[in-house]
Amino acid sequence: MHMHKMLKTLTWQNRWTRRWQQAHLPCGLLSCPSPKSPWSRLLTPRTGTLLQGVFYCQPKCQETALKAQVAQLYQLTPPAPPSNRIPLGLLMVARGWLTHEQVVTALAAQQSAQTGKIGDWFEKLGFASEQQVPSALGLQWGCPVVSSLDTTVNAPFGWLPLAIMDAFQMIPLHFVPATNTLYIAFGERVDHAALFTIDKVLNCRTRPCVRERKTVAYELEQMRQQPRTQEVEFGPMHDCAEIGRVSASYVSRLGADDTRLGRIGKYVWLRLKTGTSHTDLLFRLASEDPIRPNVLRTPRTPMLPVSSDVSLSAFQR
Ligand SMILES: [Zn+2]
Repeated sequence: MHMHKMLKTLTWQNRWTRRWQQAHLPCGLLSCPSPKSPWSRLLTPRTGTLLQGVFYCQPKCQETALKAQVAQLYQLTPPAPPSNRIPLGLLMVARGWLTHEQVVTALAAQQSAQTGKIGDWFEKLGFASEQQVPSALGLQWGCPVVSSLDTTVNAPFGWLPLAIMDAFQMIPLHFVPATNTLYIAFGERVDHAALFTIDKVLNCRTRPCVRERKTVAYELEQMRQQPRTQEVEFGPMHDCAEIGRVSASYVSRLGADDTRLGRIGKYVWLRLKTGTSHTDLLFRLASEDPIRPNVLRTPRTPMLPVSSDVSLSAFQR
């Protein structure tokens, strides 16, 4: 009984501490209708949540900001896939691992078969060993090569959505809590734009490494067999207002207290956190959009007065 009373006092205190803290946080929405002084805010209870690390005092404010941010991400033209820095064959010739004739033969084989990566052809024709191709890829992308089979990522944020790992042929490999760094292994090409979005959505640092293509593909295949209850995929999406509506409805239904989002390839990706669990929402954007020019369109949804200008110019840079 005594214990119960004490707990009750504690939760009461916690609630007021939280309310006091939130009362001092300004709302991220410039056009926020809530009272501006901390004292009046203290008297009107706020159910604040975070969006991209910014505090919003009530669901309505967060929803407005969320829809504007989704609209911005929707307009973005994803960067072209990164080009290989130095052609793999050339690099391997320079290393003395292949002869010029072998590269020509492999290229001809690839061309007539119309399939397969050039690295696979080097192996298939017996010109290069299984270790040499990933080593060359590591040199090509200037990052370490990983051969260990241990992929037990114990990151506090769990796995990446499978569709995203699949699109970029990548797998989280290792997480270092001390530096909040997630190492991600790529099987084909290192995509820094994808890493940038993962940084933002998971709120961590990412570092790329290279791993044998077949191993990455095999592990992704294994993952495909497992149930993935924390991911919801929609698409193809033709309307950014629809994405905004669906996102806002999930945020409210799940009672998410922290939402982060970003554009990754053809996806708008949202991670909704509720306490210690999370849900990933993936909106696959329709790729054949004839009216979409190769630049940012004028946003159709009203934007936040000042902050939107700032972030738009940041995207255009
Ligand atoms: Zn507000």
